[in-house]
Amino acid sequence: MKTTMASPAVYTIINPATGEAVQDVPLADINQTDAAIAKAAAAFPAWKKVAPAERASLLRKFAQAVDNDIENLAQLEVLNSGHTIGNARWEAGNVRDVLNYYSAAPERNFGRQIPVAGGINVTFHEPLGVVGVIVPWNFPMPIAGWGFAPALAAGNTVVLKPAELTPLTAIRLGELALEAGIPEGVFTVLPGKGSVVGDRFVTHPEIKKVVFTGSTQVGQGIMRGCADQLKRVTLELGGKSANIVFADADIKQAASRAPGGVFDNSGQDCCARSRILVQRSVLDEFMDHFTKAVASVSVGDPLDESTVMGPLVSAKQLETVSSFLEDEHGNRRNDIAFQGEAPSGGGFWFPPTVVVPSDRDDRILKEEIFGPIVAVVPFDTEEEAIEIANDSEYGLSGSIWTRDIGRALRVARGVEAGNLSVNSHSSVRYSTPFGGFKKSGIGRELGPDALEAFSEVKNVFIDTEK
Ligand code: NAD
Repeated sequence: MKTTMASPAVYTIINPATGEAVQDVPLADINQTDAAIAKAAAAFPAWKKVAPAERASLLRKFAQAVDNDIENLAQLEVLNSGHTIGNARWEAGNVRDVLNYYSAAPERNFGRQIPVAGGINVTFHEPLGVVGVIVPWNFPMPIAGWGFAPALAAGNTVVLKPAELTPLTAIRLGELALEAGIPEGVFTVLPGKGSVVGDRFVTHPEIKKVVFTGSTQVGQGIMRGCADQLKRVTLELGGKSANIVFADADIKQAASRAPGGVFDNSGQDCCARSRILVQRSVLDEFMDHFTKAVASVSVGDPLDESTVMGPLVSAKQLETVSSFLEDEHGNRRNDIAFQGEAPSGGGFWFPPTVVVPSDRDDRILKEEIFGPIVAVVPFDTEEEAIEIANDSEYGLSGSIWTRDIGRALRVARGVEAGNLSVNSHSSVRYSTPFGGFKKSGIGRELGPDALEAFSEVKNVFIDTEK
């Protein structure tokens, strides 16, 4: 009798800069996922008991292993995700920095001694158990690190699912953890489908928390699924951030730095300032400088050190982004103010594009594009700027350009978003909290308090009277 064996599912990695296949990566099935979760659960009691200084030392060794491998990790990310080499090196360095930052946490994971009558009351921060981290394709390394580093520091074990499209650097980080001496089962990387591995993180009772970064729609499903078990969840979701330029700002500087706020990583950034709100009295001056700045964004080979913007991640993403330049009849929009250059031929190339929509309800102003398209909208007053900025279901980040400190603070307090920057486009620092308002998410990552999201507070009272 002839038996047929099902071949294991694989995902073929495509180089976004060329469109050529790179390698096949096996995708974990349900049984492999369950086995990895069981291993992580078995590793938890011992990892939890590792002395704080020893856990700190292991995280520093992990950081050192990442540092030693930065160039390799960066090259992998260029190949897999099309990130520019400069960005990819920064991203690998960010994983090292986040590990180093949280390596200081185990020895400082303080509880409190709270005055009470008749005894002593202390609190402990207990780890949760196995944490499942689900990562999107746009920043495969940093977003993985923001989840696993504080989770491990707090004494949890971690299973991590990279996005189907971009697993290579996560797989390498898993190897580096083992090489650094992190015990087997403490940190496991499981490439697989969202509907298989990701969903199992939600339904498996041994996973005590899900950290999800990705689209709002999938995040909502994760939250619904986690509700069944009252499973802890952190959600980092989409964005539609505003870059607000007031007439009193240094207009030339605001305009020349605006491309960096939206076209970095080819616009595939949850914090992309994809709406630029410009005070009407300086609109022409701004557009003049801005158009020149966009024209100077060099788009091309991501391995070339001078490249500022690489390709989009996939053919599907190229199709999605391209659709934003069509009107409702499928014709090219007639309000495209300017387009930069992009290579033609193989690869998923899209030029930096500036649109000036006239309708405030245009989908280009409402939906996350996740590509290098920016919409410029004029406004007249400070109140109107805040109103337009808040006219979004998202609330992740934003920028304010002004020389008036009072206005900077009023607008920063008025905009409904988790991460705002004044006269800059900085959103993420590992030492400060990051996360979204509204449909941009729930919870915060990074910063000094990140361990709170990976532990439960336990209160213990000791009677001293008897
Ligand atoms: P996505 O939601 O399609 O996928 C994200 C991850 O979830 C992937 O690993 C995917 O395999 C997995 N997944 C898909 N379906 C699942 C399911 N049913 N159950 C469990 N897991 C599932 O998002 P994407 O396209 O990979 O990433 C782009 C999105 O991520 C954008 O919306 C972007 O704004 C968002 N993002 C947010 C932040 C933030 O910090 N707020 C950062 C980066 C990206």
